[in-house]
Amino acid sequence: MDKFRFIAQNRGELDGFKEGVIIIPVGATEQHGPHLSVGVDSLLAETVALHVAKDLSPRLPVLVAPTLPYGYSHHHLSFGGAISLRSETLIAVLKDIGMSLAASGFKRLFFLNSHGGNEEAVRLVVRDLAREGVSAAAASYWTVAWDALTEAGALDWGRVPGHAGSFETSLMLHLAAELVHGRPPLREDAPSIADPARRLFVQLPGQGVGKDGYTDDARFASAGKGELYFQIIVSQVAKAVVEFYRQI
Ligand SMILES: [Zn+2]
Repeated sequence: MDKFRFIAQNRGELDGFKEGVIIIPVGATEQHGPHLSVGVDSLLAETVALHVAKDLSPRLPVLVAPTLPYGYSHHHLSFGGAISLRSETLIAVLKDIGMSLAASGFKRLFFLNSHGGNEEAVRLVVRDLAREGVSAAAASYWTVAWDALTEAGALDWGRVPGHAGSFETSLMLHLAAELVHGRPPLREDAPSIADPARRLFVQLPGQGVGKDGYTDDARFASAGKGELYFQIIVSQVAKAVVEFYRQI
């Protein structure tokens, strides 16, 4: 899969991807409950991006830029384990990454986000880049895969994506089981299963993430569910990448 990584190419080899799509995975480094590693979001964004690049090759050249491992995670700072950028820093960094790639000749930039706290930022950056004459798109992986994940029953077990609950724990059991340490204490409160993009957004001062840093019960998380979710996510993100490619 290394052949789809930006960092594995020399200057000349990068030319082969400039007419295609370059994915910039946008992750986060933050606590994920007592049982998952702090790099979950970054690992998911990068792994999805690499699989999308592989699946679309050779039909469509897709390259994966280095993952941005930091996002807007101030709401996790009180738990410990977060490295967070202020929103204005994140936006500035993403814009600079976008402008650099455009200056290198990449025609289509796709920001693939894996952390709820980054959602607004990646969209704003796409708007700003368009103003600078750069064609870009942004998507959170669960948003483009929402209908298919719903159909597959992902919402029957907890929130999508939630935070360190059934959904993310299943994905991690599939992709990197060695980074999953048991399950957190049971969580009985019913999770809100509405599309996060459609929920009323409230963030109160001092409020963290759920109770103890995770949003829903991971009791029924499994590698099998994670594999199913992962396949759905990769195929739906690939569809979104193709849709973006065709628009330019
Ligand atoms: Zn996460």
